Amino acid sequence: MLNDKIALVTGAGRGIGRAIALSLAGQGAVVVVNYSGSEQAAGEVAGKIMENGGTAMTYRCNVADFQQVEKMIRAVVEKYGHLDILVNNAGITRDGLIMKMSEEDFDQVMDINLKGTFNTIRHCARQMIKQRAGSIINISSVSGVLGNAGQANYAASKAGVIGLTKTMARELASRGIRVNAVAPGFIRTDMTESLSDTLKEQVKAQIPLGRMGNPDEIAGVVSFLASDQAGYMTGQIIHVDGGMAI
Ligand code: NAP
Repeated sequence: MLNDKIALVTGAGRGIGRAIALSLAGQGAVVVVNYSGSEQAAGEVAGKIMENGGTAMTYRCNVADFQQVEKMIRAVVEKYGHLDILVNNAGITRDGLIMKMSEEDFDQVMDINLKGTFNTIRHCARQMIKQRAGSIINISSVSGVLGNAGQANYAASKAGVIGLTKTMARELASRGIRVNAVAPGFIRTDMTESLSDTLKEQVKAQIPLGRMGNPDEIAGVVSFLASDQAGYMTGQIIHVDGGMAI
């Protein structure tokens, strides 16, 4: 159980982040539902948590912005006094083959997926070090593990998240802070909804379990990693991908 734990989930208004926020709250955590554009959706997630007897607040912040992230973390710590769980879920894709990929598309994906993860850890670390406790879970991707044609920017950002996870795990272990990552395969959300039916069928053919995953199947693993049940795990990359990366 995560009773009395304070959790910050980035990009928690939609998709996988939404499922993670609901799952952590279901385990008793107080959840800060971060969003950048989806104000209404984030409000609905917080509303659902409160309807179920939990505690939640929403906070608008672009994770790519170092100063905005600093303000968000400070606001959370001022309000609740501590910060125990950080889930770096916010992420975007801007797919294209390398010859057609613009500099802007490369930079945007790096800024949100990789630098965004750095920004939150950078500002949370001080508080977690003070507490001598904390659990950080970063959302990587099977693309960052295997590579994926058409996703040079995204795969590089998610491989970067793996390097960041392992390095943070080594740096922060002596302070009682665990840092792990989850590498999802193809999960049913807005991100994958936009793919063509042909591409979806091609992807499915590469999944040993023969189907796409659901956001709840990622959220359950994140909640486990956040909990004391995973108290002896750090620096791990957990593949939740129907077997794609076997
Ligand atoms: P999604 O449905 O497209 O949702 C993306 C989320 O990221 C939204 O909540 C969005 O919030 C948030 N976000 C985007 N830019 C942000 C920013 N600058 N600051 C704060 N939040 C921002 O995607 P998803 O499928 O749930 O993906 C969630 C994570 O899982 C991502 O890191 C993604 O790379 C990873 N992942 C997904 C899959 C998959 O198959 N779906 C597979 C592997 C990994 P707003 O709407 O408020 O902007």
